[in-house]
Amino acid sequence: MAWPSFISWRQGAGVMGATLRTAPLAADGSYDLDALLELVGPATKMVVVVSPNNPTGAAVGAAALERFIDALPDHVLPVLDEAYFEYLPAGSHDGVALMRSGRRLAVTRTFSKAFGLAGLRVGYMVAPPELVRMLGAVRNAFDVNAVAQAAAVASLSQSDELLPPRMAEIASERHMVSSGLRALGLEPMPSTANFVLVPVGSADRAEALNQALLRRGIIVRPAGPFGAPDAIRITIGLAQENAEMLVAMAGALGEVGALPGAR
Ligand SMILES: *Cc1c(COP(=O)(O)O)cnc(C)c1O
Repeated sequence: MAWPSFISWRQGAGVMGATLRTAPLAADGSYDLDALLELVGPATKMVVVVSPNNPTGAAVGAAALERFIDALPDHVLPVLDEAYFEYLPAGSHDGVALMRSGRRLAVTRTFSKAFGLAGLRVGYMVAPPELVRMLGAVRNAFDVNAVAQAAAVASLSQSDELLPPRMAEIASERHMVSSGLRALGLEPMPSTANFVLVPVGSADRAEALNQALLRRGIIVRPAGPFGAPDAIRITIGLAQENAEMLVAMAGALGEVGALPGAR
């Protein structure tokens, strides 16, 4: 996988006693697929691509992803983590469509993000039948409860109506938040997801800003556990919440001082 990225994949490798190799990200925060391909060797079993990436928010290009999957040797399983798939603009990658085109990969998605069901713990994988069978043998029995299943089915059945306005609102609020942060002298990374990553110069500043924001009632996420200790990740909320966050950020920056490391 690449790093900084989603920590669960890293933890999963640790739990399985696997050797984890990490590639750097591209400058925009998306997975650098050429760098990832270079890490693949004869003992590589699985390659994870998180796109849009968490905590940075940028996605890989659809054509680049196709080329990457086609270039992988047969003994390597590509896993495409599309937790933020619903936020992608038209023309972006679609792992399930890639599978339909005959490519061998596993695609994971979740109801935790665009559908807002994180507390119900429900998501899904689309993968070749032999892999689904193998996972069926080792996963916990009854691991998606009946309420979560009902909510997931209801979400899917209404996704054509629910998602487009919601995704458009997130995109416009994300632009608002990003330009508000830039006006404060910060430089948020480009994002297609429901958050922006903001490098703030150092791990100490990230923690100081986090504390100053907490005192103002705003919860952001220091990105250290995701491999970006000098940054905070800000989730896009409702318009009113985003406006309050920007006011709090101005105060927090005043308290923490100018940012020598800010780019
Ligand atoms: C949130 C997220 C997931 C899955 O989250 P669950 O709540 O466990 O379904 C997977 N990958 C990434 C990159 C995520 O951000």
